[in-house]
Amino acid sequence: MSKVEDFLTKAEEAEVVEAIRLAEKNTSGEIRVHLEKETSIAPIERAVEVFHELGMDTTQLRNGVIIYVAVKSKQFAIYGDQGINDKVEGDFWDCTKDIMVSHFKTGNNVQALVEGIHNAGEQLKKHFPFEDDDTDELSNEISKG
Ligand code: CA
Ligand code: CA
Repeated sequence: MSKVEDFLTKAEEAEVVEAIRLAEKNTSGEIRVHLEKETSIAPIERAVEVFHELGMDTTQLRNGVIIYVAVKSKQFAIYGDQGINDKVEGDFWDCTKDIMVSHFKTGNNVQALVEGIHNAGEQLKKHFPFEDDDTDELSNEISKG
């Protein structure tokens, strides 16, 4: 299970996309998942790079969030944009990470992502509630490196 293509089945990918769509019904925050095989730098540093490569810093409220996974080692990181960091403590994503770790440990990749996305949405909602004029600023599709 060290290849990006093997990390999730097609059906599971659809579950992840649906989890993002549902999470974004509760918050103006924008969540994306990025999968790649491995990283030679710290996952959080790589997450920041990918965040910018994907143009995720272009949202109006600067409230995009990337869930980055290096699938070979199941290392992952969550990085939120400046608009979020201005409002929250440094441990803001810890509960999301804990949920993901618990599912990755048992090999349940799809559950790790789906529940991580759900929790991230709940977290975001506290500071960035859904607005009636919301648009889908960033694609809900999984991006792969
Ligand atoms: Ca949105
Ligand atoms: Ca979106």
